[in-house]
Amino acid sequence: MYNADFLLETLEQLLLTDSPSGFCDPIMKQIQNVIKPLGYNMQLTNKGAAIITVPGRSSERVIGLSAHVDTLGAMVRSITSDGNLKFTLVGGPSVPSLDSEYCRVRARDGQEYTGTFLSTSPSVHVYEDSKTKARTPENMIVRLDECVKNAADVKELGIMNGDFIFIEPKTQITASGFVKSRFLDDKASVACLLTLLEWWSREAIIPEFTTKIFISTYEEVGHGSSYIPSDITEMIAVDMGCIGDDLSCTEYDVSICAKDSGGPYDYEMTSELIELAKLAELPFAVDIYPMYGSDVVAALRGGNDIKGALIGPGVHASHGMERTHVSALEATIKLLHSYITKQK
Ligand SMILES: [Zn+2]
Repeated sequence: MYNADFLLETLEQLLLTDSPSGFCDPIMKQIQNVIKPLGYNMQLTNKGAAIITVPGRSSERVIGLSAHVDTLGAMVRSITSDGNLKFTLVGGPSVPSLDSEYCRVRARDGQEYTGTFLSTSPSVHVYEDSKTKARTPENMIVRLDECVKNAADVKELGIMNGDFIFIEPKTQITASGFVKSRFLDDKASVACLLTLLEWWSREAIIPEFTTKIFISTYEEVGHGSSYIPSDITEMIAVDMGCIGDDLSCTEYDVSICAKDSGGPYDYEMTSELIELAKLAELPFAVDIYPMYGSDVVAALRGGNDIKGALIGPGVHASHGMERTHVSALEATIKLLHSYITKQK
């Protein structure tokens, strides 16, 4: 059986490590440290993605399981004359949800400075439009917690255009089993995959077919799995399940996506996943995601000849203050386990 403590500890560590798209080397080192004692081989691609190979009984087919460890973030676009930072987005966060969030700016020398995302009409006592001004990057700044009065003071700290801004994840795991945090998309799924590896290693479980876990690093900007190992014949993207209008998934379910913005997923794989979820009596939902593209779509657009499916834990309020429940994580782990170990 999978180790629930390992799952939550691993997830928390991942969530507490900053990894916006384009800044994933530190989190990859952390993943390497988790993998090493499990005895699996992990390689990095030139782009910085990880490939962890689990030898199977047969290598006639090679199954890929992918999840992305990169997250949303921001970057310094310019320094204003009064010593604030204008920013550009990395990926597509819900910008109104950034208003008043704490952040850290990382100078290229490694020094980090704290700050806060704010509207340019931040005080209700001063600005008539403080409550109504659209929360867009154009109308927002990062206020640094340093005694800076002008752009020169900010530059003196070593901060310059192009520096990463890390959004505080605000991770909390509640006694009722909820995980509240930014970036559950898609660190929840990465933690599920690492938990599977811990399970297989501990119980010496050998998959039917060689399985390659692919941890991608540029998913949020659209080209995470554009390259995957050429021997992969079918791939399951493990990524957050959507919750909301016209969707049946909840925070307790593993979501099986039949179709997203990239079109329908492989019919046979999707049917098998539904069948396995029923057999194992897992809480699951089958849904169509209206605005979504997964690593399988990136791989297909990258020219890979694969069959692909998409599943993942239901995540509420995606790209904002997200939340899921351990029930969804458990169902995702168990569904992947039965797909990999019961496959004929
Ligand atoms: Zn995602």
